[in-house]
Amino acid sequence: MQDCPVLYIVVPCYQEQDTLPATNERLLGLLDRLTSQSQVHTASRILYVDDGSTDDTWSIISDLAASHAQVCGMTLSANVGHQNALVAGLECAADLSDCTITIDADLQDDINVIPQMLDQYAAGTDVVYGVRRERKSDTWFKRNSAQAFHRLMHALDVKSVYNHADYRLMSRRAVKALLAFKERNLFLRGLVPLVGYRSSEVYYDRIARQAGKSKYPPGKMLSFAIDGITSFSVKPVRLVLTLGIVFVLVAAGMLVYALVSYFTGHAISGWSSLILSLWFIGGCILIGLGIVGEYIGKIYIEVKGRPRYFVQDSIIH
Ligand code: UDP
Ligand code: MG
Repeated sequence: MQDCPVLYIVVPCYQEQDTLPATNERLLGLLDRLTSQSQVHTASRILYVDDGSTDDTWSIISDLAASHAQVCGMTLSANVGHQNALVAGLECAADLSDCTITIDADLQDDINVIPQMLDQYAAGTDVVYGVRRERKSDTWFKRNSAQAFHRLMHALDVKSVYNHADYRLMSRRAVKALLAFKERNLFLRGLVPLVGYRSSEVYYDRIARQAGKSKYPPGKMLSFAIDGITSFSVKPVRLVLTLGIVFVLVAAGMLVYALVSYFTGHAISGWSSLILSLWFIGGCILIGLGIVGEYIGKIYIEVKGRPRYFVQDSIIH
């Protein structure tokens, strides 16, 4: 008996003052259409999560929430990052809704597939992934780095959905299951498949950001990628071990070579190869230490079990 579900659209916003007015207009239009066609319940809401922005994002959200019954908002006490902001919104929406859709504030992801997502939800699917068909609108760098990353993740056994970011519909029980993962190092697109409920995909074309700037410059993307890998896969550490074994074998070979050179009287001529291997092995050791350190850092953060966010203010109605 769930013909008319309550939908919460969760939108994380960080420094989004330029995009919010247009975004809200489009989302509100969509929600109005969905309610008038009784595809969703009138208690459905758009929930903006202000991730500790320092610009006018929160004042815009509170104005929108004051003037539209379907708009709610919450603001976090500090900038905790996209993934944590999503969790904050989902935690709030979990008890108020039958299903949630998470979408970025810039609406680069096509909102016109939302009715399709709802159809699949109505048909009994718990998770509906929004999957990009093509990435013409992204820069060459962003497109290729994202694709290389997806491939790498698969090679490392992290089962994320190819070309899917954080645009997805989740049923209430899927959200609750997701929230039961208590880790601080969040990589939601890797966690959601672990929830395991029935899932499906809808396809759309990604458009360019219409206003404001991307909050994921290359440096941040790289650290997000490293987080994603090291939170899910221990393969890199095993790689370090394998490399170590290979080096020991190479060293044994080198020993034979050195002995032979010594007895044939060419000992000094090995200097260049020696100095090269010195640097190479030194570099490998440092990389290995770095990888292991990355995991130890993760353990350190998880062990402290710090809260993921604090809510500063919220307007829920
Ligand atoms: N975002 C956030 N906290 C942050 C960084 C980003 O809540 O610390 C939000 C941002 O407002 C947007 C979404 O995460 O809604 C995705 O960011 P963006 O569009 O800049 O990333 P891109 O699409 O370039 O990967
Ligand atoms: Mg974007």
